[in-house]
Amino acid sequence: MPSRLTRFLTAFPRFGHWFGRSSARKAATRPQPPTVRRSPGPILSASGLLRAFGSGEARTVAVQDVSLDLRQGELNLLMGPSGSGKSTLLAVLSALLRPDAGMVQASGHDIWRMSEGELERFRLRHCSYIFQGYNLFPALTARQQLEVVLKWGEGVGSAEARRRADHVLGQLGLSKKATLRPAQLSGGEKQRVAIARALVKNPTFIFADEPTSALDWENGHQVIEMIRECARERNATVLVVTHDHRLMPYADRVFEMADGRLQEDAEVRVGETRCLHKEPTLVDLTPVGTVASARLRLREPVYSNH
Ligand code: ADP
Repeated sequence: MPSRLTRFLTAFPRFGHWFGRSSARKAATRPQPPTVRRSPGPILSASGLLRAFGSGEARTVAVQDVSLDLRQGELNLLMGPSGSGKSTLLAVLSALLRPDAGMVQASGHDIWRMSEGELERFRLRHCSYIFQGYNLFPALTARQQLEVVLKWGEGVGSAEARRRADHVLGQLGLSKKATLRPAQLSGGEKQRVAIARALVKNPTFIFADEPTSALDWENGHQVIEMIRECARERNATVLVVTHDHRLMPYADRVFEMADGRLQEDAEVRVGETRCLHKEPTLVDLTPVGTVASARLRLREPVYSNH
């Protein structure tokens, strides 16, 4: 019969260090999967997505029959050449751009069946965005950019909003810039404010388009660490569009796009960032020592009438 202490620690392992049974100590003796928690099913599930721009000869199919699942608490990278459809796919998955065909199920909502009002509330409640263009409010200081999100999005009171804003600004090395407006910040600082704004609320999803592109590697590395921590600690699901291969070791999964399609199945050695295939298409990092088959399938595209 296990002791009461053992039963307590089984239920609440994070208190193990109180009793000298540190999970960190255990962690040193066994291989660590890259993700702390996994939900049983996907938190975001997309199928048969199609998005085209223009018409007639000028028609460009940016996303073609894309299906994928994202799990809670994981950091996913979306990579591929310029023009391959990454930003379009990110926008469709993140409730910003309506697809021509297909479905996105996120947090239990069939998002493209929602009304505009419901979509607005879904974005506010569940999503954080980090864009290349920063999208900061010109009239607000760095601190206010974060406070606004907390007050409007989560109904947080002024004192608590300020405390949380200052905490995240501090984590990103921006304490001294808290009272400056975007015009007074460098490109890298603006990017970090945009990232702080995404991290300050407790989002279900973080969608980021090239979040490290304006940063040197020291800052870029810090930013991806924080994003990953957000995924793990707060169980957020992160999708990052990037060209930066240095981010790969931080990812749980790496999706590769080409010509609007996610690439065909790849068998990968999990627990490593190296793909066994010569042309890596998808790296699924689950615990070391097992081999998983990627869950993406390439199918014939479905074209819509408009
Ligand atoms: P990536 O993010 O991989 O660079 P995009 O999703 O931005 O790719 O673009 C995919 C394709 O869709 C490109 O050929 C691009 O020119 C086209 N495209 C994207 N957005 C628009 C738009 N608003 N209008 C017309 N074509 C677009």
